[in-house]
This record gives sequence, structure tokens and C-alpha cells, in this order.
Amino acid sequence: MNQDSFNKEDLIRMLNADEDDRIVLFKKSREITDLQIGNKVYLRGLIEYSNVCIKDCLYCGIRKSNKNTQRYTVSDEDVLQCARYALENNYGSIAIQAGERTDKIFISKITSLLQKIKELSNGKLGVTLSLGEQTLDTYKEWFDAGAHRYLLRIETSNRELYSKIHPDNALHSFDKRIEALQNIRKAGFQLGTGVMIGLPYQTIENLADDLLFLKAMDVDMVGMGPYIEHLETPLNEVHHLLHSRQERLDLTFKMIASLRILMKDINIVAATALQAIDKMGREKAIRYGANILMPNITPGNFRNNYKLYQDKPCTDENAADCSSCIDVRMNMIGSQIGYNEWGDSKHFKKQKQV
Ligand code: SAH
Ligand code: SF4
Repeated sequence: MNQDSFNKEDLIRMLNADEDDRIVLFKKSREITDLQIGNKVYLRGLIEYSNVCIKDCLYCGIRKSNKNTQRYTVSDEDVLQCARYALENNYGSIAIQAGERTDKIFISKITSLLQKIKELSNGKLGVTLSLGEQTLDTYKEWFDAGAHRYLLRIETSNRELYSKIHPDNALHSFDKRIEALQNIRKAGFQLGTGVMIGLPYQTIENLADDLLFLKAMDVDMVGMGPYIEHLETPLNEVHHLLHSRQERLDLTFKMIASLRILMKDINIVAATALQAIDKMGREKAIRYGANILMPNITPGNFRNNYKLYQDKPCTDENAADCSSCIDVRMNMIGSQIGYNEWGDSKHFKKQKQV
């Protein structure tokens, strides 16, 4: 099989791999990872900045209409404290994630936080943002303020499925999502996207198309993980799940391995949601081709309110617990942590050199 010209049938076969073929798939992806990326895993200390959100994605626990969620926004001082923590613990980068807001106050707040983070770390900390769909001007403003990577998942590349998991209105438009991805790149960011795996109605064919979408978009980084029900969401009422939780886990591993074979030099995140199904989920993802970990450094008292899905791990811990736990976990699987390194996507760097 020519590795550079996988077609949809090849990918479907990889995603349907049985026990024996699965071993071959994982071995191949490990080989490519070792060769192209190396044995290193890079850290992005994750700050779950706020669960205030203007959107109503049907799968998400912090959607606007969920009245059972207590809303919070981390104070400036606490955000800066998290950044200092990341710096002192040699994380190299942080990631700021939140529900979506597009008002001026929010936009300026993020800009000023970015400037302060750059200042306090002397430009040492890399910053990834995951703050949803914004205008090109906002993306540019945040890029100029010092962030340099942006994660916005397409969630599913299938337009029809996208409309089944989002409300039917302009705020949740598939076309706008695509446009936002293009604007992120235009603003100068390393572009990250990804999908949820095992959504209601989602077929293996859809997932193969997702992989081809990621390749066609020529993204620099990918974060994808299993869909996990949240009891207080409309999607939980939909009973068209084609895959059990265990199958979603297995499919996520196969998606990661297949993506690594398809896009050899990109950054791939070992998603936290994996850990909600399997305690060793993230470690296995790294063995099968992922190279980025996003340890949670959100102040402990807020974590319980950033419940995107049920059984979210580590909501009762604090950053220091996470830190010692990562070291042990990475040692266990023989991976090294790229302390004090930004660990940018090699894919992005290569393109820049052309
Ligand atoms: N508001 C921003 C960032 C926060 S949500 C955004 O939407 O981009 C971050 C990610 O959490 C989403 O992209 C989605 O893929 C994931 N997510 C939300 N609900 C989930 C669920 N029930 N199961 C698994 N992942 C979920
Ligand atoms: Fe808001 Fe993101 Fe959740 Fe959608 S997925 S409701 S945009 S936090």
C-alpha cells in the first residue's frame, strides 16, 4: 500500500481493523512517529478559562441552555498564576480554552491577558487558544498579542451530521465554521482542528471522510477524542449511537494511528476525553501516534463546572497533582517530556521554510 495515497477504502479498512490488523496498524504508526516526531511528548498546560458560552451545541454540558451549570470566569490574577505555574514547572506552553463569547469586553480581556502572559514569561511561554469562532480581526488581534496556535474542531466534516448535532440557526452554521478555520490560518496561527468520534448517527465512512478532510485542510495539529454523553444535553436523548463507549475508545486509537500514517509530521493531541473511558487512554493514544498532552492547570475549585461531558477526569485535583502524575505516566510508557520547549508542529515549520 502506497502510504502517501490512501483512499477512502484504505482508511475504512484501517478503521475496521480486527485484533490482528490493529496490531499492524499501531506498529506502523509507532514507527512513523519515532522517525518523524521522535519519542517526545510536549505539554500545553490547559486553563479552562470560562464556561460562559453563547452557543448551544447539542452535545455539550456547558451549552448556554444548561441551567444546571454554575457559570464562572477565572480572574486575571488566577490566570496569571496558572501561567506562572506552567513556567515554573517548565511546561513550555499553555492553552486557554473557554465557551464561546464574541463581545468586545471578552475580546479585549483575552488580548490583555495574552500581553500580560507574554510579559511575565519574557516571551518564553507558547500560547494555544481554543475560544471558538471569531472574526478575522479578532483572530489577528489575539495573534498580534502573542498567541500562536489555535484549536477549533470541525466536530464532524459531514455537513448533514453537523446539522444533527447543532441547533438549526446562523450561530451554528457549518459554512461559518469552515470560514473560521480559514481565517485562523489567515491570521497567522498554526491551525488545529479535529472531530468527535462515535457521535450518534456517525458511521465509519464518516470518520474516513474526516481523516481525508484533515489531510485536505493540511492542518498543523489535530485534537480528536471520543464523544461522551452528557446527561443534561439534548443529544443524550437521541438514541442513534452506533458505537459503544469501548468501541469509541478503540475507534479513537485507530483514528489517531491512521492520521499519523496519513499526516506524518503534524502534532496530535492525546485528548482528555480518552481518560474518561480508560484510565490509561491518553498513554495508549501516545503509544499509537499522539505527541501532545494537555494537563489541566485550571484552579481546582473551577474544574467541576467545566463539565463538557460526563465522567470528566481530574475534576477534583489541582495542578500539582496533575504534574507529578504526568511524569510517572510518561515514564511508564517510555516517552520523554519536552520540558521548556514549545514543541511546535513540524508540519507548520516545514511549510514556513518553503
Ligand atoms: N467553545 C470552544 C472550546 C470549548 S469546547 C469550542 O467549542 O471550540 C472544546 C471541545 O470539547 C469541543 O470542540 C468539542 O469537540 C468537545 N466536547 C464538547 N462536548 C463534548 C462531549 N459531550 N463529548 C466529547 N467532547 C465534547
Ligand atoms: Fe460552547 Fe464550545 Fe460547548 Fe459549543 S462546544 S456549547 S461552543 S463550549
